[in-house]
Amino acid sequence: MKLKAFREDWSQVAEAVRKISPGRKPKVALYMAGGCGGCDLSFIGLGERFLDITENIDVVLWPLIADFRYSRVKRMYDKTIDLCLFNGAVMNRGQMDMAQILRKKSKIITAVGSCACMGGIPGMLGLQGKGKEKSRKRVKLAEGILPLPEPCDFISPLSGVIDVDYLIPGCPPTPSMILKLFVSMLENKLPPKGSVFASGRTLCDECERARKGKSVKVFHRPYEKVFDDKVCLLDQGLLCMGPVTRAGCGSQCVSANMPCRGCLGPAEGILDMGGAYISTLASIMCGGEKTTIRKTVESIPSLGGTVYRFSLSSSILKKQRRASRN
Ligand code: SF4
Ligand code: SF4
Repeated sequence: MKLKAFREDWSQVAEAVRKISPGRKPKVALYMAGGCGGCDLSFIGLGERFLDITENIDVVLWPLIADFRYSRVKRMYDKTIDLCLFNGAVMNRGQMDMAQILRKKSKIITAVGSCACMGGIPGMLGLQGKGKEKSRKRVKLAEGILPLPEPCDFISPLSGVIDVDYLIPGCPPTPSMILKLFVSMLENKLPPKGSVFASGRTLCDECERARKGKSVKVFHRPYEKVFDDKVCLLDQGLLCMGPVTRAGCGSQCVSANMPCRGCLGPAEGILDMGGAYISTLASIMCGGEKTTIRKTVESIPSLGGTVYRFSLSSSILKKQRRASRN
C-alpha cells in the first residue's frame, strides 16, 4: 500500500473504526524485548499518519516512549489488549515472562521485525555457542548494584515461546508494512491467523535488474568496486539474498545498489533460509578445478554469518542443536 493512497483513504478508516468499536478505541501495547529500538522507530517513521493512528487507539504500554509500569499490565484482565506489537528476540527470563503475560492479556499478538520473527541479529550469538557461562548476574554502577536478568539458554523468535498471530518481518519493517496491519485491524479486515504482512514471492520476482545467469568466480564486498546499477548484483558477484528472501520491502536495498541481506526472512515454501541460499550459491559458482571452487568459497566473508544473518535462531541447524541438548 502506498502511503499517499492511505492518507487519502484515512477518513474512511476513521469511519470504519467508529463502526467497529463505537465509543471504544482499540487498546494497543508496544513492547521491545532483545532489539535495538529500530522497530520502534519504524512506528515513528509513519510521521503524521502515526498521529492519525494514535488518535484512534489507546496505547496501554510502550516502554520506549513512556514510563508504563509492568505491574499495571499484569493487573489487567485477560484479553484486555486488542493488539500487541512485540519486537525484539527473546533473550532473557524477564523478556520471556513478559511475552507470556502479554499473550494472556492480548487478543492479537504480532511479532514485529526480524528479531521477533526469526531471532534476527541477536540470534547470531548462537554462532559462538551457548554463551550463558560468561554472562554476569549483576553490574556495579555509581548508584549501586544493578541485577541483570538471567539469560535464556537459547535466543528465540517470539514464536519459540508463545503462540503468535501475525508476523511483520524486516530489520526494521518499513512503516508501510506496519500501517497495513493497523488499517486491517481498524477496518476489521485482518487476514487469517499466521499471515505475514509481506509478499510470499521472492525479492528476485519483483526485482527489475537484468539477469544474465552468469557464473561467479569471486564474490565481492559492496565497497570493492563500482557495480552496474541495472544488472543483477548476484551476477556481478555480490552476495544478494534476493533468490530466497520474501519480497515486500519495496526493494529498497537493491534499488540503492546494495545487495539484499535477507531481513524479510525466507519466501513462502523455504524451510531453511541459509541452506536454500547455500544451494543457490553452489548453482552459480564457476565449475572447474577443485582449487578454483575452493577460491570462490573462500571469497565469501563469514559464510554462516552471511547466509543466516537474520534466521539462525529459527534454522534447522538450531532446532537440531536444541533437540540434542534436551
Ligand atoms: S529487527 Fe532490526 S531494527 Fe528491529 S529490533 Fe531487531 S535489529 Fe533492531
Ligand atoms: S539476486 Fe538481487 S539483484 Fe539479482 S535479481 Fe535477485 S534481488 Fe535483484
